[in-house]
Amino acid sequence: MSDSTDRGERELTTDVLIVGGGPAGALLGCLLARRGIDVVVAEKQETLDREFRGETIAAPSVVTLERLGFGPALREHGYLSTSGVKMRMEGHDVFQVDYNRFDVGVLPIDIPQPSLIGIFHEAAAALPNHSYLPGTSFTSLIEEDGVVRGAMLRHRDGSRTRVQARLVVGADGRFSKVRKAAGIDADVTPMERDFLWIRLPRPAGWGDDADLVVRGDRQLVILPTFPDLLRIGHNLPKRGLGDLRSEGIAAFRDSIAEIDPRLRPLLDEHLTDWENTGFLEIFTAEVEQWAKDGLVLIGDASHTCTPILGQGVNLAIQDAVCLVPVVARALTKDQQSRQPVPAAAFDEFAASRKKHKSFVTRYQRMQEGALAQSKPLAVLLRRTRFRLLNALPIKYKIFGKVINAPHPIDAEDLRLARIDSSTAPVQPPTTAA
Ligand SMILES: Cc1cc2nc3c(=O)[nH]c(=O)nc-3n(C[C@H](O)[C@H](O)[C@H](O)COP(=O)(O)OP(=O)(O)OC[C@H]3O[C@@H](n4cnc5c(N)ncnc54)[C@H](O)[C@@H]3O)c2cc1C
Repeated sequence: MSDSTDRGERELTTDVLIVGGGPAGALLGCLLARRGIDVVVAEKQETLDREFRGETIAAPSVVTLERLGFGPALREHGYLSTSGVKMRMEGHDVFQVDYNRFDVGVLPIDIPQPSLIGIFHEAAAALPNHSYLPGTSFTSLIEEDGVVRGAMLRHRDGSRTRVQARLVVGADGRFSKVRKAAGIDADVTPMERDFLWIRLPRPAGWGDDADLVVRGDRQLVILPTFPDLLRIGHNLPKRGLGDLRSEGIAAFRDSIAEIDPRLRPLLDEHLTDWENTGFLEIFTAEVEQWAKDGLVLIGDASHTCTPILGQGVNLAIQDAVCLVPVVARALTKDQQSRQPVPAAAFDEFAASRKKHKSFVTRYQRMQEGALAQSKPLAVLLRRTRFRLLNALPIKYKIFGKVINAPHPIDAEDLRLARIDSSTAPVQPPTTAA
């Protein structure tokens, strides 16, 4: 990495510039730096504090993090294991999946997203070729004849850095500015509902299953959350946040308690204002083209999914892990000429990731459609369908395909994880906290 100041503008040269320090960007930065690749991670937020983000780490991601050497840090922090998911419709238990019955060997876990990202940062901070720039926003791409050669960054104090990079990775989330700047169109499909998230203290003896509680076209997703909370997502009609707020917090409490009366005492005691609520617009975004010469997209920037079965972080982690060997190979190829990585280097990566993500999105859209039903006959049919599915062992096959697709990890990354002095030897995962 080299650094100079010219015309009052800082200049920086690196192998890879990652825009966005979310789960995808932070993990990718750490793994590339472990490989000895120069990496700059630019993150627009100054701190890692972020409320209401994906905190569910699906089982294959837990296995991956363990194999990549992050297990000891996860255990030291503590997390909650989720043992299954239950669906209740109009007061009837209709569907249940026990995560212990999958052969992944571990359960999904819940850990705050800032803590997860912090674990990646801590491992990366020990690596001399990793540079993290918090409070730094991507503003534009540096392009020559349609080839991306870096990006312009703006810091909180208004100063700018011109970064020359052989690869710019857009890991800047669902509203990716990098994607837009690259002229890559996303096929955005709004879902019928948006979400409002709240957090409440978890009552003693609540259990560690995730619940989906449905009444007509209204739903609650209730997720036991580390350390002692419940994270509750309540669906809203599209663009319905203004109306909801104008009806007042008491009406919102009533509406939640009507769907799940177990929550009434908690709501009355703890949900007294809008302060601790978080809005999530629900849409899927699919991108046909994931790469240009000198640029690739990953995580939510390349493909945004809905909250069904909490796959956002899983897919982001999987993207990062699959991309590392591809980038390492491509950078070695033109080491002397320092040419930008050609788009073709990502063909295989993009095709295989797109296939998996599209499968997840198709499943999620189907469920979103079912959850949007409100007419009595449609609601009755939906309940019957879930009851039928519940009785069939194939439910484990379908669910397993959506949530448990294994992550291929390159042998070199496994080797480096074993010798990385910042991490302890790989151990089988256990439940902590
Ligand atoms: C309210 C909410 C609740 C969610 N709940 C769940 C859940 O329960 N389970 C689940 O799996 N997923 C959930 N998700 C989705 C999950 O958080 C994402 O899928 C996941 O974080 C994607 O990771 P990412 O790294 O691709 O993107 P992000 O996590 O979005 O990270 C992108 C990063 O880029 C930064 N950035 C953006 N623009 C710029 C710029 N111009 N310059 C520099 N940096 C920039 C952002 O600050 C951010 O840190 C939720 C998302 C939201 C918003």
